[in-house]
Amino acid sequence: MTVPEHPIDTPPRAPSPVHGFGTLAVHAGSPHDPVTGAVIESISLSTTFAQTGLGKPVGQYEYSRSSNPNRDNFEKAVAALEHANYALAFSSGSATTANILQSLAQGSHVISVSDVYGGTHRYFTKVALTHDVKVTFTPSMVADIEGLIRPNTKLIWIESPSNPTLSLVDIREVATVAHQHGIMVVVDNTFMSPYVQNPLDHGADIVVHSVTKYINGHSDVVMGAAAFNSPELFERLSFLQNAIGAIPSAFDCWLAHRGLKTLHLRAREATKNATGVAEALEASSHVRSVNYPGLASHPQREIAKKQHRDGMGGGMLSFRIQGGHDAAERFCQATKIFTLAESLGGVESLVEVPSAMTHGGIPREQREAAGVYDDLVRISCGVEDEADLVNDVLQALEKAVLGSKVKNGFAANGNGA
Ligand SMILES: *Cc1c(COP(=O)(O)O)cnc(C)c1O
Repeated sequence: MTVPEHPIDTPPRAPSPVHGFGTLAVHAGSPHDPVTGAVIESISLSTTFAQTGLGKPVGQYEYSRSSNPNRDNFEKAVAALEHANYALAFSSGSATTANILQSLAQGSHVISVSDVYGGTHRYFTKVALTHDVKVTFTPSMVADIEGLIRPNTKLIWIESPSNPTLSLVDIREVATVAHQHGIMVVVDNTFMSPYVQNPLDHGADIVVHSVTKYINGHSDVVMGAAAFNSPELFERLSFLQNAIGAIPSAFDCWLAHRGLKTLHLRAREATKNATGVAEALEASSHVRSVNYPGLASHPQREIAKKQHRDGMGGGMLSFRIQGGHDAAERFCQATKIFTLAESLGGVESLVEVPSAMTHGGIPREQREAAGVYDDLVRISCGVEDEADLVNDVLQALEKAVLGSKVKNGFAANGNGA
């Protein structure tokens, strides 16, 4: 596959990179149809494209796994929003991770933050080994990185903020050390979305997204994307995108592109809501601690100010509830607007208990070392009204913690278990 000369080239009417995020979100990769003038692209379902001679397609397309108009347009939009020269879309965030790990030579070594997404942890520990790629985890990347680098270290994997404890990593500091050793830095930017954070601007080599979350934003598409600047990476990763074939459908690309156009509006609203909820939780006696990068109490608040747009905290937060695991579960059942479900980044607010759901596969010791205790509740704030979300959280806290007192009292008087 040839490297396009102007990878984020957009038609004459599209905005140049001097335009702001909202303008790019709406227009990048969204040309009018040159034949009909349609403002919104049509969904290109054809799997194959006519050729005028052997190996001479009419246009730039041959077969939809290799490339498709809707995927191309979506990739252009993601590249523009991540300040990247290139973006590639995959069938899921996990397929994106798999393609990047597959691009490493056999016997490579990877260093990863400890509290990565559960599926990423599973891939690193149970799948990467099959082609002899070993991953070392560290809870404190910046402090440990020098000591963990081996001659065969090829990649450093960061999530900032991490899932589900919302701890931050200084991307610039990690990239500076990594690049001295010729090591690539990948940042999973799913939790922030490109609106709040652009990791490539802080020295990362690849930014990855579970598009399933904020970029699509409506909980109706599973998809992933990677964005980067290096033409060599484009060659290697687009080869694997085609060879492995874990590509998204034209319809999913079209839907995700539609979602992306309002990312700035949704991300601003989610941040506003999460800030309100985090402040209410922090003020409650039913709460042990709150993890939210938008709060002054966050231990890495200074990194948030440096790395996030206007120091925004994003839409995700987690907190430890009084009363242990039972109270955490009761809390999730007592909310009326927040739905008890995995996933995040949609217009609707969600709540979950990572130790029993998204991170249930990680052994307890490792989990707790990363701060994922049984009483930790994770919240994804949607774009409902702030006052309604705050009130819902407060009433659920009352029910959950009061319930645990009743139950404990009952147990003490009863069978003593
Ligand atoms: C969901 C998620 C993934 C995996 O993405 P899928 O689209 O579900 O495969 C990776 N990283 C983070 C941070 C996620 O939240």
